[in-house]
Amino acid sequence: MPSPLALFGILFVSCLMSVAILGSLRRAAVPGIDRWCAAYALLAMVSLYLSTVGDRLDSHAIVGASFVTFVAVALLVQGTRQFFGVRPVRRIELAAFIIAFAALVYVTCVAPSVEARVVLASAVIAYGRIAIGTLALRHAPRDGTLYGYRFVAAAAYLGALVHVARAVAIGFGIVSPVSYWQPVPWSDLFLGLAIVTLPCMSIGMAMLAHDQIVRRMEKLATIDELTGVLMRRAFMTRANDLHAAARTTGAPLSIAILDIDNFKAINDGFGHAVGDRTLTHFASVVSSQLRPRDLFGRLGGEEFGILFVDTGKSDAETLANMLRLAVERSDGSGARCTLSAGVARMAPGDTLEAAMAQADAALYMAKAMGRNRVTTAPDVDLREIEAPT
Ligand code: GH3
Ligand code: MG
Ligand code: MG
Repeated sequence: MPSPLALFGILFVSCLMSVAILGSLRRAAVPGIDRWCAAYALLAMVSLYLSTVGDRLDSHAIVGASFVTFVAVALLVQGTRQFFGVRPVRRIELAAFIIAFAALVYVTCVAPSVEARVVLASAVIAYGRIAIGTLALRHAPRDGTLYGYRFVAAAAYLGALVHVARAVAIGFGIVSPVSYWQPVPWSDLFLGLAIVTLPCMSIGMAMLAHDQIVRRMEKLATIDELTGVLMRRAFMTRANDLHAAARTTGAPLSIAILDIDNFKAINDGFGHAVGDRTLTHFASVVSSQLRPRDLFGRLGGEEFGILFVDTGKSDAETLANMLRLAVERSDGSGARCTLSAGVARMAPGDTLEAAMAQADAALYMAKAMGRNRVTTAPDVDLREIEAPT
C-alpha cells in the first residue's frame, strides 16, 4: 500500500487530469461542465496542500481544507443537476452545507473532537456522491446506451459507501481516528478507495458529456430544425429499414408524398417568415394526427413523406385524406394552407425510390386535378416497368 502522502500526490495528479479532460469539453458548451472543472480544480488544490503540509496540519488548515472540499462537493452536485437540466442551486442544500461547516469549525476549534469532525466531513462527502449517483440514474435518457450513467452512479455510490463506512466505524468507536499521514492499513485502504472513485467519477462525467454531444450531433444530422421532423436522408434510411422488416413479415406498406398547395404564393404574399411558420405548423398538425408507428419526414422545401406501416393503399388514402382535412381546418401562427398528396403501395419487390416515384406521379395528378386532394397511384408491378421483357 503506498504511503498516505503518496496517495494524496496521486489524488492531486488525478484531479488535475480530471480538470484537463473535462476542460477539453468546455468548448462544446455542455451544461454543468464549468462547475465540474472548478470542483476538480479545488480538490487538486486541497490534495496538493495536504500532501505538502504533512503532519504540520493545524486546526486552521483543517478548517480551510474542509471549506474548500465542501465547496467542491456542492459544485459537483450543482454541475450534475445543471447537466441534466435541473435547477442547480437549492437553498436548503446550501443552508445544510453552511450548518455542517459551522459545526465542523466548532468541533475543530472550539470543542475539538476528531470523531465528530470525521463523521461530519464524511457525511457531507457521502451526501454529495449519493446525490450525483441518484441524479445520473434518474435522469439517464430512456433510449441509447446507459453505460456512462451507470458508471458515474457506480463510482459515486462506491465513494459514498466508503465514506459512510468510515463515519460509522469512527462514530461508533469501532476504530479510532488517525491522522491521515499515519500509515495505518484500514485508513490507507479507505483513502485509496475514496481517491480511486474520484477520477472514476470525472471519467464518467466526461462519458456523459460525450453522450450529450453525440446526441446533439445525431439530432443535427437527422432532425429538420424548422419543422422538428426527420430530414430526407434519415427518413429514407428508416423507411428502407421498415421496408426490409415488412418484407420478412409480409405486412403491407404504403407511402404518401404530401406537398403544400401554392406555397410560393404564401411566401410571396406574406413573406418568408410566415412561410416558415406555415411549414412548422403544417408539420406539427400532421405529426399530431399520425399514428406512432408511421414515419414522417421532410423530403425538401414544402414536400413531406409518410410511410404508413401495416397499411394497404386504400387505408393509406383514407389516412392521408384525414390529414388533408386536419391541415385545411387548422389555424396556426402561419398562413392557412391546403395539401395535395399522392399515395402508392409498396410491394415487397419494390424499391423505396420506385414506390416514391409512383407516389410522386400520383401527387402530380392531384395537382393537375385542382389541388387539395389525395390521389392514389395505380397498382403496377414496378419490376415490369423497370425491366421490360
Ligand atoms: P404547388 O401547389 O404546385 O405545389 O405550388 P407551390 O407554390 O407550392 O410550389 P413551388 O415549387 O412553385 O414553390 C415552393 C416554394 O417553397 C418555393 C420555395 O421558395 C419555397 N420554400 C422551400 N423551402 C422553404 C422554406 O424552408 N421556407 C420557406 N418560407 N419557403 C420555402
Ligand atoms: Mg407546393
Ligand atoms: Mg413542392
